[in-house]
Amino acid sequence: MLKSNILTCTLLLAGIMNARSQGMDFEKYNPVSTLVVPEHPVKKSKFPFIDVHNHQYGMGNANLNGLLKDMDALNMKVMVNLSGGNGEGLKKMTDNIKANAPKRFIVFANISFNGIGEQGWTEKAVEMLVNDVKNGANGLKVFKNLGLSVKDNAGKRVAIDDPRLDAIWAKCGELKIPVLIHAADPKPFWDPEDGNNERWLELKTHPGRKRGDNNPAPWQQIIDEEHRMFKKHPRTTFINAHFGWYANDLAHLSKLMEQMPNMYVEFGAVIAELGRQPKMARQFFEKYQDRILFGKDSWQPEEYATYFRVLETADEYFPYHKKYHAFWRMYGMNLPDDILKKIYYKNALKIIPRIDKSLFE
Ligand SMILES: [Zn+2]
Repeated sequence: MLKSNILTCTLLLAGIMNARSQGMDFEKYNPVSTLVVPEHPVKKSKFPFIDVHNHQYGMGNANLNGLLKDMDALNMKVMVNLSGGNGEGLKKMTDNIKANAPKRFIVFANISFNGIGEQGWTEKAVEMLVNDVKNGANGLKVFKNLGLSVKDNAGKRVAIDDPRLDAIWAKCGELKIPVLIHAADPKPFWDPEDGNNERWLELKTHPGRKRGDNNPAPWQQIIDEEHRMFKKHPRTTFINAHFGWYANDLAHLSKLMEQMPNMYVEFGAVIAELGRQPKMARQFFEKYQDRILFGKDSWQPEEYATYFRVLETADEYFPYHKKYHAFWRMYGMNLPDDILKKIYYKNALKIIPRIDKSLFE
């Protein structure tokens, strides 16, 4: 009797140990696909392209040759550096570009929000922007700090549609330069960090990205501020970065496209949303083919291949490059050439001034 009890216990324990060794972390589970289907990896885009969402630092002093070599390998004719800063720093950058690679780089200026609320802040910011454009800036980039962390001189969060900023957006319309804006962050960063959250892994590996209704405000509120601001300035062209965080709800994004004809979108960092719904995404690209731009965001040359493959091929179930964005696989949209050309360069040429069109003939 005793002997059989011990045996049962031993067997039970062995069973538990076995189950434990078979369990593993979500981060570790990375099965190799056994699916055999045609594969068409794309290292170089089918047509030359303009990346409207890139960040390069230290461009004022840098030797640009290495960058040009990487761009040529991808077929990137023009890179838009959104981190232009302003004033002297920006001028140094545009001077270096003019001297060494005048056709290949475009710089967007940034606003310094320091001191907003002080007497004369708006006028000074507008003056700085006008000067930056004279020095060669071709657009304005607004970072997500507006809406999330920018505070005025009284310590209050500055809303994206704050009237103290109106003169800046209006000036961009007058100067005919686009405003590329990144507002808030993906909605799941505001949701409970649990097993139902699609961005659980990103929040686990980047805990600083977690947000909440009071940190600093509800997601929808910040997004609504942005849309009100777009509507208030119909003569200014806005490029809503990252598909305005609606790449996972293209029916809703379509409604927004209808409401705001001055809004363009770019798909930096959200290609994994398009690559999981190739049919719906293709319909969206067909309908809004004149208002979608190619953007990537982080400068990792080898990751562009995923973007090209989603846009150009009809491939099925191929891997994405960053598990914390997408633990799912990609499908290609198989876009026709005339739409690809618009996405890759024609739309950008239309709204970003002073890009040499002869690069695309
Ligand atoms: Zn960015």
